[in-house]
Amino acid sequence: MSAQLISGNSLAATIREQIASRAAELTALGHQPGLAVVLVGEDPASQVYVRNKVAACQKAGFKSDMHRLPADSTQATLLALIEQLNNDTTIHGILVQLPLPAHMDSHAVIEAIAADKDVDGFHVSNAGLLMTGKPLFRPCTPYGVMKMLELTGVPLRGAEAVVIGASNIVGKPQAMMLLQEGATVTLCNSKTRDLKAHCQRADILVVAVGRPNMITGDMIKPGAVIIDVGINRLPDGTLCGDVDFESASQVAGWITPVPGGVGPMTITMLLQNTIEAVERTIANH
Ligand code: NAP
Repeated sequence: MSAQLISGNSLAATIREQIASRAAELTALGHQPGLAVVLVGEDPASQVYVRNKVAACQKAGFKSDMHRLPADSTQATLLALIEQLNNDTTIHGILVQLPLPAHMDSHAVIEAIAADKDVDGFHVSNAGLLMTGKPLFRPCTPYGVMKMLELTGVPLRGAEAVVIGASNIVGKPQAMMLLQEGATVTLCNSKTRDLKAHCQRADILVVAVGRPNMITGDMIKPGAVIIDVGINRLPDGTLCGDVDFESASQVAGWITPVPGGVGPMTITMLLQNTIEAVERTIANH
C-alpha cells in the first residue's frame, strides 16, 4: 500500500473529545445539549444505528431522548410527537430515523421537524440554505467528509473533485459543500457515460453509491484523495466500501477504510450539529 490512511476512527475520537468538553461547558451554563431520536418500527439496521447515536450522545454528556413507536403507528401520531419535540426547549435536535414504514410520507415527516432542530439537515429549508451558500445544518455524512479533508490538510480551492452518487443525503450536499470551498465539482449518477474518465481526472474522489468495490485502482489518478462513503455487506457477512481498497490504495495518495472511515464521522457530525444548535439558541436569546 502506498496511500496514507485517513482514519475516521481516530479523527472522530479527537472531535468527540472536543464536543464532550464543549457540552460540559454548555451544561454548566444551564444549556445541556439535547437530542431526540425517533425510531418507528423494528428495522434491525435502524435499531443498530439508533442505538449507536444514543450511545454517542450519552458518552458526550448530552441529554438523549429515545422515542420508539410501533411500526403500525399512524403518521398523525408521529407528527404529534414531532410537534411536542419542536416545542420542548430542552431538545435542540430532532432526528427521525429513516426509512419510515411504507404507509408514512417521509417528506411530510421531515418537513414537520422545526428547521432549526433539523440536525440531519434534510429539511428543504436547510437544503436550500446549503444550496445558496448560507448553511444552517449540513447533512452529517458529507459534513463529516469535509471535516476529514480539512483535518488531513487536503487543498480544495481549484481542485478537481468528482462525487459519484447523487442522493439527497450524501452526493448532492457533498457536491455543494465542495463547490463552496472552491473545488471544481463533477457529480456523477447511474446514467453517467464513461465513469472511469471522470474518476481519472479527480484530485478528490468521493464515492457514495452502494455497490461493493466498484472503483478499482486503474480508475484512479495517482496520488488522489479517495473518500469511500459506501457501506456494503458481503455474503460472508463482512463489510466493504464502494472502492476496491486493495487496488486503490496502491495508486491513491490518501484513502479512507471501510469500516472505520466515513462511518464514525457521520455520528460525530450529528453531535457537532446538535452543539451548533445549542450555540445558536443561546445567541438568539
Ligand atoms: P442512494 O440513495 O441509493 O443513491 C445512490 C446514488 O448512486 C444514486 O445517485 C445513483 O444514481 C448512483 N449510482 C447507482 N449506480 C451507479 C453507477 N453504476 N455509477 C454511478 N452512480 C451510480 O444511496 P445513498 O443513500 O447516497 O448511499 C450510498 C452509499 O453510502 C450506500 O452504500 C450507503 O450505505 C452509504 N452511506 C454511508 C453512510 C456513512 O455514514 N458512511 C451514510 C449514508 C450512506 P441515480 O441518481 O441515477 O439513481
